[in-house]
Amino acid sequence: MEQAAVRIVIVGGGTAGWLSACLLAARVPGASVTLVESPDVATIGVGEGTWPTMRRTLQRIGIDEAEFLTACDASFKQGSRFVGWATGATDDAYYHPFTPPVEGEARGIVRGWQDAAATEPFAAAVSPQPRICSLDLAPRQRAMSGYVGALNYGYHLDAVKLAALLSRHAVERLGVRHVRGHVTGVEAQDDGDIAAVRLRDGDPVSGDLFIDCTGQAALLIGGHFGVPFIDRGDVLFNDRALAVQIPIEPDSRIASQTDATAHDAGWIWDIGLPTRRGVGCVYASAFMDDDEAAATLAAYLGRDPDDLNARRIAFRSGHRARFWERNCVAVGLSAGFLEPLEASAIVLIELSLDALVDNFPVNRAAMDIQARRFNDLFRYRWDRIVEFLKLHYVPSRRTEPYWRAHRDAASIPDRLVELLTLWRHQPPSQADFPAIDEIFPAASYQYVLYGMGHSVPSDGPLAVDADAAVRAMAQAAQRGRALAASLPTNRAYLDALRAAAPRRALETL
Ligand SMILES: Cc1cc2nc3c(=O)[nH]c(=O)nc-3n(C[C@H](O)[C@H](O)[C@H](O)COP(=O)(O)OP(=O)(O)OC[C@H]3O[C@@H](n4cnc5c(N)ncnc54)[C@H](O)[C@@H]3O)c2cc1C
Repeated sequence: MEQAAVRIVIVGGGTAGWLSACLLAARVPGASVTLVESPDVATIGVGEGTWPTMRRTLQRIGIDEAEFLTACDASFKQGSRFVGWATGATDDAYYHPFTPPVEGEARGIVRGWQDAAATEPFAAAVSPQPRICSLDLAPRQRAMSGYVGALNYGYHLDAVKLAALLSRHAVERLGVRHVRGHVTGVEAQDDGDIAAVRLRDGDPVSGDLFIDCTGQAALLIGGHFGVPFIDRGDVLFNDRALAVQIPIEPDSRIASQTDATAHDAGWIWDIGLPTRRGVGCVYASAFMDDDEAAATLAAYLGRDPDDLNARRIAFRSGHRARFWERNCVAVGLSAGFLEPLEASAIVLIELSLDALVDNFPVNRAAMDIQARRFNDLFRYRWDRIVEFLKLHYVPSRRTEPYWRAHRDAASIPDRLVELLTLWRHQPPSQADFPAIDEIFPAASYQYVLYGMGHSVPSDGPLAVDADAAVRAMAQAAQRGRALAASLPTNRAYLDALRAAAPRRALETL
């Protein structure tokens, strides 16, 4: 290929494949986009929590927020609530909200919290969002423009319905060609680039740039190119999940956050949608067998383990050594997966596509340069996510073997060990995360560290001015009270939206 990579072939039709199709078709003018999807291999069908980045992504591909919320049975996600991670005691819970702490220098904020609100959890003292979450309130009013919030938010959604919506949008509105076919192999050019993918039935599909969205199969990046997989299971032990869907009463509450409840050898996610809950037990097979996991999930749900009907999903924590090889970019599970904690997978899909679109190679020579830069950037990002996820485990005082193993120094990445040493004397700050566009900023580390009960640094020789932070916290508390009085519940918001859906559909005819 000497000119612009204009024929893009995406292999795989899960969340990664259809997000790729929509974003590339919407944002690379002149590109022809074909998506090939196997009729025989199901999508993973989980992945129901997103980051706030999803608002920007949906907006960029031209999907209306109300349409998205109704089509995907979606609700608002304003962060996560971690239950039982620090000690397992009954009052052990903390929030990691999406809205950052009040503005100011990190030392001043932490000192201000200690001076003025030490009896309150850190997140509740520095952000109005935990209060809003605890009341099951929506982050926005219906009268606001789409994708605008009074507080920062992402979504909880039905993954299968999201893929269906994106697929309709891609094909009907963005001109994406959809081929149902099982890919059996690759036709290579003399220089090693992929020329085409071969189908079991039908003609090969040729292209200039191939996006591997084949999920755990990693057909192109792993199967064809043999790019090594870097196992991170020595740091993050979870490798199994049992997932169930629980129907709910029509008028029951819808939580504003993902609940993540720790258990002996992992944790349980609990995600509220308007019509059901998605609940899953994540565990490490080295510390818990499948029957014990089923019993743990059943106990959480108050059910008999024999009636669970749970889907068992195995995964390997890790990622590829490189994500872009020759004319092939791996996006989604084919690039890697660590574990469901903090919903870091879909955001990586979005960021991969942003980086690809923003630096779209104008010719073949540029492609190798862009590939090197992409690989460096995403290796940095995967390493930071590994450290951030590990941070959720290391400060725990739980005593089960799984939790003690997480504190074993040999399992903690060197950079995290260094940071934890620094954080005995100073709070996490921007200086610890110098890259532009860090996925998890210093604020996220503060929420987790102090939520887990990590000791607060003394000021040492520094004079810390906490007055501005104390004033900002008082304003945040005031804002929290005002929002609590004015925002609708998630249930009221989403029911009203769904009631208006038929009218909206008629209006667009
Ligand atoms: C237990 C669990 C919980 C998770 N929770 C979250 C979460 O809350 N938030 C989050 O951000 N992420 C989460 N994830 C990750 C998230 O599910 C994935 O990142 C996301 O669904 C993208 O998956 P995918 O599209 O890469 O793969 P898949 O959904 O597996 O899609 C693979 C596609 O490739 C196709 N394919 C495979 N082989 C062939 C072939 N030979 N020929 C043609 N097509 C082929 C299949 O037909 C399918 O269409 C979770 C993952 C797991 C395992």
